[in-house]
Amino acid sequence: MKATKKKTKKETETLSNKKPETLVDKKGIRLDGRKLDELRPVKMEVGVLPNADGSAYLEQGRNKVLVGVYGPKEAHPRHIAQQDRAVIQCRYHMAPFSVDERKSPAPSRRDVELSKVIREALEPAVFLEYYPKTSIQVYIEILQADGGTRCAGITTAALALADAGIPMRDLVVACAAGKADGKIALDLMDTEDKIGDADVPVAYMPNLEAITLLQMDGNLSPDEFEKAINMAVEGCKQLYVKQKEALKSKYVVEEAEEE
Ligand code: ADP
Repeated sequence: MKATKKKTKKETETLSNKKPETLVDKKGIRLDGRKLDELRPVKMEVGVLPNADGSAYLEQGRNKVLVGVYGPKEAHPRHIAQQDRAVIQCRYHMAPFSVDERKSPAPSRRDVELSKVIREALEPAVFLEYYPKTSIQVYIEILQADGGTRCAGITTAALALADAGIPMRDLVVACAAGKADGKIALDLMDTEDKIGDADVPVAYMPNLEAITLLQMDGNLSPDEFEKAINMAVEGCKQLYVKQKEALKSKYVVEEAEEE
């Protein structure tokens, strides 16, 4: 049996939800050992659900996100259809077991709000005008949550849309930066988000260099806000590399096998 790594005092505090005294130590190291401008470890995979038209799975730190995409198909109910373009129907849902206390499986107000902002972050990337009167359905399931799930949901959903073969101008990738212990930090985890001072989620189309989502929770000075956006965009660029790798590892291998 593999020996279990002994947890540091800091890790024990985070896992037991005891409020840590500091989020960033004197050397600029955070509770999980990351530097201020460091992302959590990321793993992405596409085509994980054979029954969906497109799918993707992502782990970012302790976040676990699964996305299934259907469509474009005839829009139902008919009244949601647009004569000149496809509509995206997006559902962000946190599983009851995704947080430490059981969450009601019914959609919460937060789930409804996040479904809307995620849809709006994805829409600019998709050639909706190619498929009038249809709908593209995006189902985002948060299996495990540890802060930054709207961003993780967007990054995963863009991969699932690409996996479904839906024509896109660019991928969309999202990452947050925020303020913890008075310092601007990348990709806040839940403890940093809750105890920290601010969180700025950003969604970004890397080739078009366009931001499709920008929110702020908390207080930042104009300089701090600018620093947070720039840091989040740098985080997005790093995640974009992983997105491309995930797509290549499915499609480039499949093409090679076909030859
Ligand atoms: P995001 O996940 O995009 O950062 P929020 O800032 O609203 O969105 O939430 C931050 C974190 O709070 C989530 O990632 C999750 O870990 C936690 N959280 C959200 N809703 C609940 C809930 N109902 N119960 C417990 N924790 C929750």
